[in-house]
Amino acid sequence: MQTNFSAAQLADPHVAESEKILRKCVHCGFCTATCPTYVTLGNELDSPRGRIYLIKDMLENGRPADKEIVTHIDRCLSCLACMTTCPSGVNYMHLVDHARVHIEETYKRPLADRLTRAMLAFVLPYPSRFRAALKLAKLGQPFAGLFEKISALKPLAAMLKLAPTHIPAASPMASPGIHAGQGAKKNGRVAILTGCAQSVLDPGINETAISLLTRLGVEVVVPQDEGCCGALVHHMGREGAALASARRNVDAWTRAVEQGGLDAIVITASGCGTTIKDYGFMLRLDPAYADKAARVSALARDITEYLASLDLPEPVRKPGTIVAYHSACSMQHGQKITRQPKELLARAGFVVREPREGHLCCGSAGTYNILQPGISATLRDRKVRNIEATGAEIIATGNIGCITQIASAAKLPVVHTIKLLDWAYGGEPPRMS
Ligand code: SF4
Ligand code: SF4
Repeated sequence: MQTNFSAAQLADPHVAESEKILRKCVHCGFCTATCPTYVTLGNELDSPRGRIYLIKDMLENGRPADKEIVTHIDRCLSCLACMTTCPSGVNYMHLVDHARVHIEETYKRPLADRLTRAMLAFVLPYPSRFRAALKLAKLGQPFAGLFEKISALKPLAAMLKLAPTHIPAASPMASPGIHAGQGAKKNGRVAILTGCAQSVLDPGINETAISLLTRLGVEVVVPQDEGCCGALVHHMGREGAALASARRNVDAWTRAVEQGGLDAIVITASGCGTTIKDYGFMLRLDPAYADKAARVSALARDITEYLASLDLPEPVRKPGTIVAYHSACSMQHGQKITRQPKELLARAGFVVREPREGHLCCGSAGTYNILQPGISATLRDRKVRNIEATGAEIIATGNIGCITQIASAAKLPVVHTIKLLDWAYGGEPPRMS
């Protein structure tokens, strides 16, 4: 694609990066066919190609974001299916990230939208605030139907509907410390991301991961001072907050490396994994962090990616359960991890079925199911229909956002992949909710 940025514009490294990305796009439109919002809404401006044109126009003319571009960029799920499909290697993720920062800096959203976003950014990345908010949500749940009828309150209604009825207690295993590997043979040393929302919604995911890893002889470190990866605010264009989270985690993991070495930083939420693997890019312009962040990104592994690299023993039991594996967008498109979770499940004795339209997002996408509840529900229902058509007995996936989203409509139980693997390798059977 031809671009017309001035030399002065290109002196801004963010613009220069976006210009490089824009020049790779050849307008072929292959990406439109796999874009969930184009498939749902049928509007070119809600396709990757349409959004690329809108972003190009906004950046090239150096103008503030307007209502039209905000509408279409807000509808983008950042699912990155377009990046998997694109034959030209267009890095849509970095382009839309830049556009979101530009929107945040130049566009004044309506008051209700500003308040919703400020509240999400204040609450979600902090487990204690999130836990308190979920308790409050229980009181508001009876009013969700009423709020849904008022346009400005639809995000609040969506939040209340997604809030779980049972809020688990905080896990002691999430506290900083070291969980020693069992057995005589030491199989490695890893740090695990405690994160934010997942540690509140289902602390059992990391507990299970730590239990399985230590049984396999891997030492697991929960480093002091690590926290939210920053993805939630990053996708809202709040770059200052996202980079602050990234720097804090880079410091925490760098200390862990210095204090005993790490083979990997293991992540059990693929949405977080995609962002942490991008820390090297996000902090490339910060001389104090660029190298450290690149090292952290190079160490980041999804739990299934890490397990697949180990010499695993034979499973203790082979359950034979039929599992529909839902590949989160951040897993298949963001991290290009497609094989390992299915192979691990099959090797552990599960019968793995893949739903039709597996490339399409379930509509969760971080805070998307709160901020865009209509499109999100359409995508969720389509996903659930495809999953249930597999005839599976249980749904497995590797991202807490997808678990919450799919569980809100599916008749089948939804569990994290690690819980099924742990069961097969001698752990407790997963609790079905
Ligand atoms: S990230 Fe997903 S929703 Fe956004 S343009 Fe690409 S395919 Fe469409
Ligand atoms: S598939 Fe790639 S090159 Fe083709 S229009 Fe989409 S982003 Fe551009």
